[in-house]
Amino acid sequence: MNAIHPSVSSETSINEMKSEIKTLESAQRPLDPNAEQRTRIRNKVVNYSESFLLNQARESVYFNSEENAAKLLDSPISEEPIEIETVLDLLDSSVIKTGLNTSSPGYMAYVPSGGLYHSSLADYLAAVTNRYAGVSFASPGAVKMERMLIKWLSNIVGYPESAEGDLTSGGSIANLSAIVTAREAMELKARDIETSVVYLSEQTHHCLEKALRIAGLGECIVQYIALDDAFRMRPDLLEAAIKRDRKNGLNPWLIVATAGTTDTGSIDPLERLADIASRYDLWFHVDGAYGGAFALCDEGKRILKGLEKSDSTVIDPHKGFFLPYGTGVVLVKEGRKLHQAHAYDAHYMQDKETLITTGEFSPADLSPELSRHFRGLRLWLPLKLAGTAPFKAALKEKILLTRYFHEQIQEIEGIETGPYPDLSITTFRYIPKRGSANRFNEKLMESIRNHGKVFLSSTQINSSFVIRCAILSFRTHLEHVEEALDIIKTELEKLK
Ligand SMILES: *Cc1c(COP(=O)(O)O)cnc(C)c1O
Repeated sequence: MNAIHPSVSSETSINEMKSEIKTLESAQRPLDPNAEQRTRIRNKVVNYSESFLLNQARESVYFNSEENAAKLLDSPISEEPIEIETVLDLLDSSVIKTGLNTSSPGYMAYVPSGGLYHSSLADYLAAVTNRYAGVSFASPGAVKMERMLIKWLSNIVGYPESAEGDLTSGGSIANLSAIVTAREAMELKARDIETSVVYLSEQTHHCLEKALRIAGLGECIVQYIALDDAFRMRPDLLEAAIKRDRKNGLNPWLIVATAGTTDTGSIDPLERLADIASRYDLWFHVDGAYGGAFALCDEGKRILKGLEKSDSTVIDPHKGFFLPYGTGVVLVKEGRKLHQAHAYDAHYMQDKETLITTGEFSPADLSPELSRHFRGLRLWLPLKLAGTAPFKAALKEKILLTRYFHEQIQEIEGIETGPYPDLSITTFRYIPKRGSANRFNEKLMESIRNHGKVFLSSTQINSSFVIRCAILSFRTHLEHVEEALDIIKTELEKLK
């Protein structure tokens, strides 16, 4: 007999075992609170959320409080439970009131995320019902919901019926899936990698190089195509590079364009790049993690013309559709290519063959994941409860607010702006009469932050320190942009 599994032989030991099982059953009872207990903890959580939301307008956008976060460690994970009140206090002081308040209307840094309330309720429902959204037979409804959302998103992009996609945890993973799909579709083998060429720009998001490395393509040759004055990839230089590389016996295979770069929100000339990709037979991927969602509104659709010509694209609903962090999407025009790159089978999954009823792809066959969060619900619920019209309005509003900011900030003497915004990111800096502009703008940036009501971020463009204003939160409106302008003016006067 195997020593780690002692045999249960006598009557007494069976009874002992049953009694121990019953003891364990009562010991784990706190894992499944009853209706009364649920009401008590739920009310506390709901009350906390309500006071969080009601205080947003007054709340600071930045909590400079490393020490408070460290206090979390004073309450180690232990055998003993603690009360919900204590837990919420701890959460509030050590987590929520530390660092960036990304839910604030004054948060105009990096690429703002959303946090639609409807999605929080969807997450709640998804977790309470805990539906398995990985394969069709386990929850045909959950899978249908995801397929429907993928179709809706494909339509926004302008992809045909053949398109497929996957709801991911974010844009980085979605880009990774697209790169893997491109690799498989272009039949790139290990022996080809060192002579195969990928075309990016200096403004390509770093997650694409990360994706290339993770996908085993880190040894591809990367050509960075130079940008025009508005930081968009230059098609003439791209074409010249492809021709040159071909002539040199290399294998150009992938172009990555960006629809909304992180630094300046610039959109590469998608139509012209798509034409080049098709002429030279390269895969054309467009990273629209930030900008893609704008295609929902007419203004955005016009600006993003050409996106429909890509082979694959990425949108981050946790950016442009205002969802809380945790949702990206990859879309592939010829959906079967996404399937071919990700589908697998196993003996223990054999039931899915007999139980399948829908004839649709299951998320697990379009994704690196098997078990997964029931993600569709957090996109579906806000779309159903609010309809798409408010989303369109919000996206157009963000474009106009950014243009307004761009126009107004130029009026301030000594301010130099970056290019006219394509979407909802714009850059500026102050040119002091004497002294280092970089140093001055670093200080300006810091004093705007310390003011506490608006949070901007900065970047380096052609070795210049520039301040970015990125407007994408569904809570950011005209009053907040006016307030940001006022704060910038005030802090500028103080520093001059
Ligand atoms: C945000 C962003 C990413 C990365 O997406 P995550 O959701 O943060 O993983 C990639 N590309 C662009 C252009 C982005 O704005």
